Amino acid sequence: MTADRTVKTTVFNIQTYCIHDGPGIRVTVFVKGCPLRCVWCANPESNLRKPQLMFYKDKCTACGRCVDRCPEKAISIRQEKDKYISFTDRSLCKDCGACVSACMQEARELAGEEMTVEAVINRVKKDKLFMETSGGGMTISGGEVLFCPEFTENLLMAVHEEGIQTAVESSCFASREVIDRVYRHVDLALCDIKHMDTNLHREYTGVPNEQILANIRHIHNDLQVPVWARIPCITGYNSDKVNIASTARFIRNELGTDVRVCLLPYHRLGESKNESLGKDMDWSIEIPSDDYMQELKAMVEGYGLTVQVGG
Ligand code: SF4
Ligand code: SF4
Repeated sequence: MTADRTVKTTVFNIQTYCIHDGPGIRVTVFVKGCPLRCVWCANPESNLRKPQLMFYKDKCTACGRCVDRCPEKAISIRQEKDKYISFTDRSLCKDCGACVSACMQEARELAGEEMTVEAVINRVKKDKLFMETSGGGMTISGGEVLFCPEFTENLLMAVHEEGIQTAVESSCFASREVIDRVYRHVDLALCDIKHMDTNLHREYTGVPNEQILANIRHIHNDLQVPVWARIPCITGYNSDKVNIASTARFIRNELGTDVRVCLLPYHRLGESKNESLGKDMDWSIEIPSDDYMQELKAMVEGYGLTVQVGG
């Protein structure tokens, strides 16, 4: 079976020369659409499948060029604190992107573009030499890649047809049928483990964890795909030592000590992205200190696991 390169989805970023998201130098493809709603989401522009307008108010000079460009009459110039900026009425905005090209300051951006597998693969292939010589490959991330399984499966097949290694970064929240379809084309599974308590998992992400943990077991133990477990460390939510120890026990006892653990300290990028999407942010999460991350690393290593902070 060969890949169907006409399948499409909405892609919001193709990042080159990545040294995270797997070994070596990588190209990481980010798709839009996710069934989870993690409180700490670092990529809120990936939540919805459709393209979305992002507005960076610090860049806006209130020139007004975007106002007439909007077919929905959603944009006006308003005073905010001590300066004037453009304001978008999100209840009228249809995310059409017409205002983006009007702005010379790059204060407006449309996150997401419909792309075929063929278009993505043509970009990925350009870096084949770097990927090959560094032991890298392509990673597909999101959003949630298992939320667009047809695209993901065909992209992975196409990448293999080009002789490039594949990795998938996922919450693993999907049916067993989708897992089996996708993971037979995967060389490395980057699996997120967000909380071991299913009630807290549901509270913080919108979904329980039983299906996720069962899928990670299946990927590692039955499909025999190498797994890196990625644990976002979010102050006040899941980075307490009780939960991290419980996660380490799950990995050691139910997967094995061949699983690499990546402890990912919270960063604030998602907070500014929420603002540019017009979402209210009346809270802030504390970034864990380097010392605390090293304490967690030593604790997880105590379970016989190989641990890295980041990536
Ligand atoms: S994206 Fe389209 S509808 Fe939304 S503000 Fe810009 S021009 Fe108007
Ligand atoms: S065109 Fe750009 S700089 Fe000018 S008002 Fe609109 S967003 Fe601001």
